[in-house]
Amino acid sequence: APALYWVRRDLRLSDNAALRAAAEGGRPVIPVFIRDSLAEGLGTAPQWRLGLGLGHFAEALDGKGLRLVLRSGDPVDCLQALVRETGAEAVHWTRAYDPDSVARDKAVKAALEAQGITAQSHTGHLMFQPWTVETRTGGYYKVYTPFWKAVRGLAVNDPLPVPATLKAPASWPDSEKLDDWRLGAGMRRGARVVRPYVRLGERAAQSRLGAFMASKVADYGRARDAVAEDGTSCLSENLSLGEITPAQCWHAGRRAMEEGKAGAETFLKELVWREFAYHLMWHSPRLLTGNWREDWDAFPWNEDARLREVRAWKQGRTGVPFVDAAMREMYVTGRMHNRARMIVASYLTKHLMCHWKIGLEWFEDCLIDWDPASNALGWQWSAGSGPDAAPYFRVFNPETQAEKFDSEGRYRDRWIAEGRRTATETALSYFDAIPESWPISARDDYPEPIVGVKEGREKALAAYQGRDF
Ligand code: FAD
Repeated sequence: APALYWVRRDLRLSDNAALRAAAEGGRPVIPVFIRDSLAEGLGTAPQWRLGLGLGHFAEALDGKGLRLVLRSGDPVDCLQALVRETGAEAVHWTRAYDPDSVARDKAVKAALEAQGITAQSHTGHLMFQPWTVETRTGGYYKVYTPFWKAVRGLAVNDPLPVPATLKAPASWPDSEKLDDWRLGAGMRRGARVVRPYVRLGERAAQSRLGAFMASKVADYGRARDAVAEDGTSCLSENLSLGEITPAQCWHAGRRAMEEGKAGAETFLKELVWREFAYHLMWHSPRLLTGNWREDWDAFPWNEDARLREVRAWKQGRTGVPFVDAAMREMYVTGRMHNRARMIVASYLTKHLMCHWKIGLEWFEDCLIDWDPASNALGWQWSAGSGPDAAPYFRVFNPETQAEKFDSEGRYRDRWIAEGRRTATETALSYFDAIPESWPISARDDYPEPIVGVKEGREKALAAYQGRDF
């Protein structure tokens, strides 16, 4: 009897325990992706990127003689129907950790097992299972450095090879068509503007990792903060959809460390920030929905996403060049440099005193590397409401940050066109990307700051002062 391999955010053939388990003993494998309410609820850019990823993965499976079967609906119903249609005796998938996926997967497991079907989740999306890392008193970690110390010496499974042979079933169940799903149809700028920045699929992810280890990791400690340089791995896009595993990245980083490459340990530490975000989300799902530190509920955030200031922030016309450059980078490329993410998040939550959730949702709509745990941790860290957060009174000054991390102004030149004698191609491409309704044109003068950098900081500090955090 065949086994179903339930494809989710694990679009790869290598280091894929779920796929291997499905194929074990030479059983025929039927890969299936289900467009459920979680897939439908994704932000515009993540959903668009998922559509690209699925198309590409379907081709990779095809190259192995398999097909990617597509179904829509409730996963319990879809999987039960497929079990009936194909006679499958087992369903395997890669474990997810966000509360909605966990609830869904539990329901699936219970329903299938009640029918005598093997229903098994496998690891891969993380290196360290959140419940296996405990403090000395048996709790979970709320501070990064002790978490890092607890995990850095743990064994990480060697990545699994691509299965040598994969057997197709005697006949294939019906499949819906990916094009009919129109995933990310709202992403009008997708094919036209963002697509050239996408690195799609497992092979591209592996070559990104290889190139990073060959030429960038040595200088990563410095270059990772230089916003105009291409000094980071950019692997978050592929990690997000499981086109590469953290274990594959970890082992490459360990090898670089053994070769004496200076930045390698810093890279491993960044991978562990991702694990830490999942650790926190698993133990404290509130990270996704509300102030992790509940005493922050009393803070007078602006929560109206229609505010003039919020619109200006989203549209990259706050009048603060570093902030605007970063917001435009994200709109055009689907990514934003980490240093810039911290600065625009600080600016929104402090200078503009807007709730971090407004920022979190906009990122969720725009990022092709969107990740539920890292995004939430990043926002709550920046806002001061999260675990191990930057203290609220540490307000990034976007002007001094620009002097420090973009000293020659290359990042701002790359993304700001107004008021420049010669605008760069990338800066102009922003105006091709935006909807007509945005009140902004390359011919405008560059806007005046909507809030003075000093004045905004003082207002935020005044609101914070006297509160008992
Ligand atoms: P590299 O510098 O090459 O790092 C390697 C890997 O380590 C990354 O791919 C990523 O998986 C992990 N990593 C690095 N920094 C962090 C971090 N601070 N937190 C968690 N993991 C990290 N990352 C996402 O993947 N998706 C998001 O939606 C996301 N939203 C963020 C929102 C805010 C407000 C902030 C401040 C950070 C956010 N991050 C998010 C974290 C970080 O900015 C990105 O992971 C990083 O910029 C990705 O680029 P890279 O792959 O070149 O990273």
